[in-house]
Amino acid sequence: MAFVTGGSRGIGAAVVRRLVGEGADVTFSYASSAQAANALVAELAGAGGRVTAVQVDSADAVALGAAIGETAGHAGRLDVLVNNAGVLERGSVETLGMDAFDRVFAVNVRAVYAGVQAAQRHMGEGASIITVGSIVADRSGFPGASVYSASKGAVQAMTRGFARDLGPRGITVNNVQPGPTETDMNAPEYHDMLSSLIALGRIGKPGEVAAFVAWLAGPDARFITGASLTIDGGYLA
Ligand code: NDP
Repeated sequence: MAFVTGGSRGIGAAVVRRLVGEGADVTFSYASSAQAANALVAELAGAGGRVTAVQVDSADAVALGAAIGETAGHAGRLDVLVNNAGVLERGSVETLGMDAFDRVFAVNVRAVYAGVQAAQRHMGEGASIITVGSIVADRSGFPGASVYSASKGAVQAMTRGFARDLGPRGITVNNVQPGPTETDMNAPEYHDMLSSLIALGRIGKPGEVAAFVAWLAGPDARFITGASLTIDGGYLA
């Protein structure tokens, strides 16, 4: 049984498709895109997949914990948690206010802690936790990214801490750091400029990030934990 946060669109939807395609039972959350979430459920269920969507705002730690607990309770256990839901607020420290800081940290940091805390209660030997961080934890690249970058830096640090806490129980915890990826978060008008900064000359596809996440959740990655692993086509190279 797998739980994916923010599975209605973008990288999260690709992770849901990938895990369901590999035969997993998947529950995913979304904030407001009920139509996109229902369409994904219909597409995958039509192909024989076992998938459920739940509306849960990750900023509500209690609701997120309850949704994870309920999902794991029905299945009897949880094998995989993917903390994917994330929000981006751009703005210079000269202008971006504390409301934006709190929104970003509530979803990108606090919800990751809440999700892991809820999930680990139902996990045992062989379970995996993967958070979708970002290369901005290592290099901001552009102005206006201090808050978002800080949130992804916190994910790196928490990943190391979680790995130490949960390693003795055989649970791995890793952080996948995509570079610019083709989703709604990354407006098409930036694609050419970003592609010119990437060694492979193009931005990433959600399915490529999903394949990496699925591999980390699989049996060949059991000795990897506490790691922040970049998938960016050479953006940081
Ligand atoms: P999108 O904006 O395309 O999709 C975000 C997903 O997260 C949606 O399913 C959305 O749900 C969900 N979500 C957002 N806020 C909440 C919330 N409060 N509660 C529950 N679900 C929520 O983003 P991406 O697919 O691009 O990003 C996914 C992850 O990848 C994020 O953590 C992001 O920071 C990271 N990332 C993205 C990069 C990129 O270039 N795209 C690069 C590096 C990292 P709904 O549809 O209901 O709004």
